[in-house]
Amino acid sequence: MSVLRFDNVSKQYPGGHVALSDVSFEVEPGEMLFVTGHSGAGKSTLLKLIHLAERPSRGAVLFAERNLLKVRGRRVPLHRREVGVVFQDHRLLTDRSVFENVALPLILRGMRRGEIGKRVRSVLERLGLGARERALPTQLSAGEQQRVGIARAVVAEPRLLVADEPTGNLDPALSAEIMALFSSLPERGTSVLVASHDLGLVKRMKRRVLVLDHGQLADDIAPEDLADA
Ligand code: ADP
Ligand code: ADP
Repeated sequence: MSVLRFDNVSKQYPGGHVALSDVSFEVEPGEMLFVTGHSGAGKSTLLKLIHLAERPSRGAVLFAERNLLKVRGRRVPLHRREVGVVFQDHRLLTDRSVFENVALPLILRGMRRGEIGKRVRSVLERLGLGARERALPTQLSAGEQQRVGIARAVVAEPRLLVADEPTGNLDPALSAEIMALFSSLPERGTSVLVASHDLGLVKRMKRRVLVLDHGQLADDIAPEDLADA
């Protein structure tokens, strides 16, 4: 069973701009892959169709074999529980501590306090943020802030994590560190889809790469073919 499938998906924004054109691919459970391409190629749009920030104009997006076209109304938040999202600008609550930011998805699920504490501390520990749980996001470095964003996205153990330019604001060393973190997630059963325009960084990760070009899926490169790409 695939965790994600795009079947001939096109997306045309109001006003006529075609952001995605007839895109098809499939993601297996526990797979990590990248989507790359120039600015405006359609990377953000592709991710937005997965967490239902946008809807396709044609074709179907299937999540765990479920057609997202049928996920409407009250089912949208339920779907979003199964997809962790990491943004470039991390979107943390600046008046809440690191702990509270990461706990939020679990509170929304109605989890018991004791269980929340355990889960949050475990994920903060794993991401090297164990000593920072009481800090406010503004007291953290850029790399730490992004790690809190990742902690919040994975704390509820989503089937799929999508990240939109997660290293866009970071220097090369921190970018490599964040990418290594993403690489460790598939071992835990979460599939990972990362959008990045940084082809050099993407190639060094030695994972499958989808290449978008003006909204078309121009290439779907297996890790072993990356060297020639
Ligand atoms: P990328 O993430 O690769 O930079 P995007 O998915 O953000 O690409 O954008 C793809 C194209 O769709 C761009 O030309 C962009 O201007 C256009 N676009 C994105 N969002 C919208 C929108 N809400 N309305 C109209 N056009 C949009
Ligand atoms: P990104 O490349 O990360 O998508 P952008 O600056 O292109 O960043 O887009 C920022 C936001 O504006 C996104 O939510 C995108 O959907 C929206 N957007 C992008 N292009 C357009 C557009 N031509 N018209 C309306 N909204 C747009």
